[in-house]
Amino acid sequence: MSGIATHTKYQSGLRSWQITVILSPNLNMEITFYGAAQHVTGSKHLLTTPNGHRILLDCGLYQGLGKETDPMNRYFGFNPREIDAVLLSHAHIDHSGSLPRLVSEGFRGKIYCSDATADLCRVMLMDSAHIQESEIRFLNKRRIKLGKPVLEPIYKTEDVERCINQFEVLDMRTNYPIFEDTSVCFTDAGHILGSVVMRIVCTENNKTVSLAYTGDIGRFDDKILKSPEAFAQCDYIICESTYGNRLHPQRTDAEEKLRQIILDTCVEKKARVIIPAFSLGRTQEVVYTLDRMTTEKKLPPIKVYVDSPLSVSATRIMRKHPEFFNQEIVDYMQRDPDPFNFPTLRYVQKAEESKALNQLDEPCIIISASGMAEAGRIKHHLANNLHKPDNTVLIIGYCSPESLGGRLMRGDKSVRIFGESFAVKCKVETISAYSAHADYKEMLQLLSCQEPENVKRVFLVHGETDVMLDWRKTLQQKGFQEVDIPLSGESFKLR
Ligand SMILES: [Zn+2]
Repeated sequence: MSGIATHTKYQSGLRSWQITVILSPNLNMEITFYGAAQHVTGSKHLLTTPNGHRILLDCGLYQGLGKETDPMNRYFGFNPREIDAVLLSHAHIDHSGSLPRLVSEGFRGKIYCSDATADLCRVMLMDSAHIQESEIRFLNKRRIKLGKPVLEPIYKTEDVERCINQFEVLDMRTNYPIFEDTSVCFTDAGHILGSVVMRIVCTENNKTVSLAYTGDIGRFDDKILKSPEAFAQCDYIICESTYGNRLHPQRTDAEEKLRQIILDTCVEKKARVIIPAFSLGRTQEVVYTLDRMTTEKKLPPIKVYVDSPLSVSATRIMRKHPEFFNQEIVDYMQRDPDPFNFPTLRYVQKAEESKALNQLDEPCIIISASGMAEAGRIKHHLANNLHKPDNTVLIIGYCSPESLGGRLMRGDKSVRIFGESFAVKCKVETISAYSAHADYKEMLQLLSCQEPENVKRVFLVHGETDVMLDWRKTLQQKGFQEVDIPLSGESFKLR
């Protein structure tokens, strides 16, 4: 028989005896991949601890998978009532967006995350519920006309409210016991405000197994956030793969390109720069860059409108959490305490104010969501400005090829918005350096905190299959011997 023997001596009166227990050398611990397995959305990884507690690592919504998306978001593949806790890496909807559904299906445990993630989830999940409800209303109008039964949204705003009550905030860089056999420690992932790498340690009979889940990994030269932070040695790592075979251009070149585009469009041609941008992260990064350039007189005063209610809320939360900021912006804040505001900047909340921007006849910069220009007020701004040759549309984030942003990027001469055709006569420019995801060299930089020979296995998630194959090869060359690309529903024993 293999294993570790423990001998315990007992005494009662004159009698004494010894009990010998043979401990199994292996922990009974398992990980199953339910989302972002060879996809970039829907992150959900289920950890079963030695004592049988079931902990879900992230609970993301699937996005952009066509007709498959809706059923994939309705059925989890496991019973939400049997989940004991959720550990949440960050507030992006593809990592947090199924939490209200999990709660509405019977999950009653705690959702552990950082302070900033809890704040962001309150507004982002509510926004997601509004989107679900309005999409279903639109679909149901047609279904009623066709005599088909109406559909229910994946979740409603009241599910979000219930879900928010289950959030429990954990401090960074501190070990917390989640269950009697499991503890977790969060370190900075540098991807968005509040994002963490989580290191989970399970213990059974004095044997421990450690597992790190990277969530999404950020940049080492982010303008606002601290760089991804080293974490203690692990037996197993679940690692993201988004840019597992790509390198990003330098950010300093991006800033100069942004300045040139603004000077050319707004100063020379007295026209407009329209920037579709994600409400959280990229919007604040561009605003901070413009704030700095204006303060340092690299740009003349130009009117800037941030036109997205979600961006306004996200910026407010960003100001509340400078503990995630890097030294550079902290130093800048000594001179300018609010790096997301300057005299010519205006945050637009009301719909009437947003519409009024189209009547203004002045050079300006309009930053509006969504980043792929698929939804939100940006569609109105594009519909009103694409036909003017002096204007510029500036794409600063990833756009899927079929999205409105993607069609503009590939140079379509006419695009459909709200069912109408619009000629594209303006310039379309792209700056790709603003990504919130590490490229493969930056991911290796983070993983350099690990001794590869002591990592038993790396699981790759959150990537396209061909990218993951390249990323696996790179990791193997760096000495990580066992690198797996799990299929959806696949389980692995962790020993
Ligand atoms: Zn993310």
